[in-house]
Amino acid sequence: MTQQTKQTANSKSIQALFGGTFDPIHYGHLLPVEALAKQVGLQQVVLLPNHVPPHRPQPEATVQQRLAMIKLAIKNNPLFSIDTRELKRKTPSYTVETLLSFRQQIGRQKPLAFIIGQDSLLSINTWFDWQKILDLCNLLVCARPGYTTYFSIPSMQQWLKHHQVHEPEILSHKPCGAIYLADTPLLNISATEIRERKRDRKSCKDILPPAVLRYIDKHHLYQNCS
Ligand code: ATP
Repeated sequence: MTQQTKQTANSKSIQALFGGTFDPIHYGHLLPVEALAKQVGLQQVVLLPNHVPPHRPQPEATVQQRLAMIKLAIKNNPLFSIDTRELKRKTPSYTVETLLSFRQQIGRQKPLAFIIGQDSLLSINTWFDWQKILDLCNLLVCARPGYTTYFSIPSMQQWLKHHQVHEPEILSHKPCGAIYLADTPLLNISATEIRERKRDRKSCKDILPPAVLRYIDKHHLYQNCS
C-alpha cells in the first residue's frame, strides 16, 4: 500500500482503480468516473498512472509531469487519490499484475473494481493475460462516444453477456467476475486531441481542468509532438 492510497474503514466498500496514461489527464477521464462513482456508490477512486503502457507509444510528458498534472486535477476532489505502484515498476504496466498486487494487499473477498472506458473494453482481448482479469476484479465501464456497447467478435460478445450485470448493487457483494456498463455522460475528449490542439496552438479550454492547462502552458508541453 502506498502512502497515497487512502483506505476506507468499511471492508465491504468497493476498492476502485482507474488506470491510464493520463498524458494529460482531462475531463473525459474525470467526469464519467465521477458519475460512475455516484451510480455505483464508490467512495474512493484510485488513479493508477502507467509507467510503460504495453500497447501504446511512450507518453509525451515525463512521469513526473503526468503525476504533477494528476495531482493538480484532483487537488480539491476527495473522490480521487493516486497510487504510484505502476510508475515505480520498471516493467510494462500489465493490469493483471497490478490487480494481483492489490489482491495481495486487500485479500480475496473485498470487491475490487477496475474502471475503463468503452474503447478499452472493446480491445481488452489484446491485453496481457486478459482472461485472468475477471478472476481478480469487476470491470466498471464508462461510455465513450464513437464506441459500440457490443463486441463485433461473437466470442467476445458471449464473454460480455456471460459476465454483464445490470444492477450496480451487485457490485458491492461480488469480489470479482462482473462487468457493469455504466450510464455515464458522453464526452468527446481524448488526450490525443489535447496534444494535437496544443501542437496546433488551438484552445483546450473547458476540456481539462484549468490548473492542468496552466501547467501544460508553463512547461511548454505537447508543443512539438508529431
Ligand atoms: P490517448 O488519446 O492518449 O489514447 P486517452 O484520452 O484515451 O489517451 P488514457 O489515459 O489512455 O486516455 O485512458 C485511460 C482510461 O480512460 C481508458 O480506460 C480510457 O478508455 C478512458 N477514457 C479516456 N477518455 C475517455 C472519455 N472521453 N470517455 C470515457 N472514457 C475515457
